Amino acid sequence: MPESIQRTLILVKPDGVRRALVGEVIHRFEMKGYQIRGLKMMKLTREKAERHYAVHKGKAFYDELIEFITSGPLVAMVLEGPGAVAIARKVMGATRPHDAEIGTIRGDFANQTRQNIVHGSDSVESAQYEIPIYFEESDLV
Ligand code: UDP
Ligand code: MG
Repeated sequence: MPESIQRTLILVKPDGVRRALVGEVIHRFEMKGYQIRGLKMMKLTREKAERHYAVHKGKAFYDELIEFITSGPLVAMVLEGPGAVAIARKVMGATRPHDAEIGTIRGDFANQTRQNIVHGSDSVESAQYEIPIYFEESDLV
């Protein structure tokens, strides 16, 4: 059965921008066959950061995560294609550096859990929640 066409939110987080990995990250998703439906550089407001990461509110790492994600410009994009949500997560690699396989973005470029270069929605429902935080419907092609 063919994979269904999905949209997912990908971020090059502020550490990825600082380390000049924007092109590398975009390249990997393009090479995997995904189309870019929206793309922008922006500095996230605290309000948007708290909306995005509401699911983590109360956890030990929450305050530092909000601090980090608002610490500088990030690049947000909407990718579209077959199985985009789960397959983009495979391209990214696991959250923890000990678990992220070499060959994934995090496996190749991150050695700590917080500053891990990239974000990707973890489900279709998360993508539908996250995309409007970053893009108006009219921004997407
Ligand atoms: N994070 C952190 N410490 C932790 C777990 C997560 O700083 O112990 C940060 C990290 O940047 C991660 C983000 O919080 O990417 C969101 O965590 P989640 O568990 O949702 O990981 P992801 O979905 O990004 O792989
Ligand atoms: Mg997550």
